[in-house]
Amino acid sequence: MNQDFSPSIDPPGEPDPDACCFVYSESRLLVKTTGAAPELPSLREVASQGIDLSHPLFLGRCRGRACYAVPSTPPSEALPGAEFRELRTLFSRLADPWYDIALRGLHLAGWDGACRFCSRCRAPLNARRDIRAKECPECGRLEFPRISPAVIMLVEKDDTLLLARSPRFRSEMWSVLAGFVEPGESLEDAVHREVLEETGIAVKDVAYFGSQPWPFPDSLMIGFTARCASGEIRIDGDEICEAGWFRADNLPPIPGRLSIARRLIDSFIDKHSAAPSS
Ligand SMILES: [Zn+2]
Repeated sequence: MNQDFSPSIDPPGEPDPDACCFVYSESRLLVKTTGAAPELPSLREVASQGIDLSHPLFLGRCRGRACYAVPSTPPSEALPGAEFRELRTLFSRLADPWYDIALRGLHLAGWDGACRFCSRCRAPLNARRDIRAKECPECGRLEFPRISPAVIMLVEKDDTLLLARSPRFRSEMWSVLAGFVEPGESLEDAVHREVLEETGIAVKDVAYFGSQPWPFPDSLMIGFTARCASGEIRIDGDEICEAGWFRADNLPPIPGRLSIARRLIDSFIDKHSAAPSS
């Protein structure tokens, strides 16, 4: 948990020019590039770049500074000393705790931009001032930020783990299996179903591992470990184009450290590296 950040929907009466500003263009974030590492601009600096600040979304306070998310479009001309960068590439480049707040801001800015009309009667929505939601003045319907839960799971068999390759991955990268939770399912149900559907493997001993917000655009990844109960690998060729069992000392290219997929795989590597050789 980020101890430095206090989320809030109650902005200060007068915006502080030194407030921290998260300006997004789709999944890219505006950062200052004049220092050794990327930094976030202040409201004053963003205003001086000519970016529209008429609808800043208050996120909360971090280390005494107010934080705002601002949806934007990239200006036609290059900004002096600043540029939009893909948020995922800023992992470990943007100092803690600002990267986590940037993920939160991306999710909320995307929701704020997309959710403007009531999904029941199409009336324009009003923002609530007491909860993070919008309310329809005509029919009273509440619209909350959408969070789409997805399970991601490490499946083990003896001293190997199950990895797969998707046609959507960049070439040659392998990862653990993942998929969205369906209505009516528990998270554990989703783990069983996804692994069986995508690889033909039945699993047992499903256990919670950890979770990670993944606002590209609105997911929450919930990680599990599981063990192979039965079955031989059988892929559908659609979602998955290759799958296999791999030992910790013989892994193919795997995802970078920003994702919970990598944390799951690293936990497997740590466990098997620590085991006495037989
Ligand atoms: Zn309505």
